[in-house]
Amino acid sequence: MKIIMLGAPGAGKGTQAKKIAEKYGIPHISTGDIFRANIKNGTELGKKAKTFMDKGLLVPDELVVDLVVDRVNQEDCANGYVLDGFPRTIPQAEALDKALADMGQKVDYAIDVDVPDENIVKRMSGRRACVDCGATYHIVYAPTKEENVCDKCQGELILRDDDKPETVQKRLNVYHEQTQPLIDYYTEKKILAKVDGTTDIEVVFDTIVKILGA
Ligand code: ADP
Ligand code: ADP
Ligand code: ZN
Repeated sequence: MKIIMLGAPGAGKGTQAKKIAEKYGIPHISTGDIFRANIKNGTELGKKAKTFMDKGLLVPDELVVDLVVDRVNQEDCANGYVLDGFPRTIPQAEALDKALADMGQKVDYAIDVDVPDENIVKRMSGRRACVDCGATYHIVYAPTKEENVCDKCQGELILRDDDKPETVQKRLNVYHEQTQPLIDYYTEKKILAKVDGTTDIEVVFDTIVKILGA
């Protein structure tokens, strides 16, 4: 099962992608996580990506596409995967489709987690990420057992630099301009499913499971 998560920054793509990956036993591939790991490790890719991410801009397609195509060709992806944060532009979607078509494969579902902009800014200011393992929480909606300590690895939690309100607004604009057209793209391919992302995390997940089949 090959699944793409679509939605604005903060819509809950990552939260749902992790739950899907766990339930269906397939890898969760987050391009944002891959970039953040590269930044942490000081790689050339990380240095390049950071200059765009800090400004709330997309990393250029040529730095993203090969990375994802290589990743989905790895052995653990044989039974499918859930892509979170990719594709984010029409050229990325076309490149993915072409790479898959060359292998006789295709995307099965594009799930659009729909949350209005008004809710997003509020949500993002409460998002906390673990500096060590990347786990994501929310101070109100998905709190940790102990304040500011990761449940999974005891790491420290931070507010991502790009989750500050100024940058969130910028990212929302970029989303509407460059990523939202993918909704039409996948609607035309008849694989788009829209879910209401404003309900509770478990309610959103139940809706997705109904779409994917148990
Ligand atoms: P969010 O979870 O809030 O949607 P991500 O963690 O997916 O954010 O992405 C963080 C940043 O990484 C993006 O704002 C962008 O700069 C960069 N990025 C991630 N995925 C892509 C992609 N597919 N194309 C271009 N840039 C990307
Ligand atoms: P994305 O990957 O789309 O950027 P995340 O999954 O990181 O979004 O979610 C953004 C923030 O909102 C996180 O702090 C997360 O815990 C919280 N969140 C996710 N889904 C919901 C939901 N359905 N209701 C309330 N908060 C949510
Ligand atoms: Zn952690």
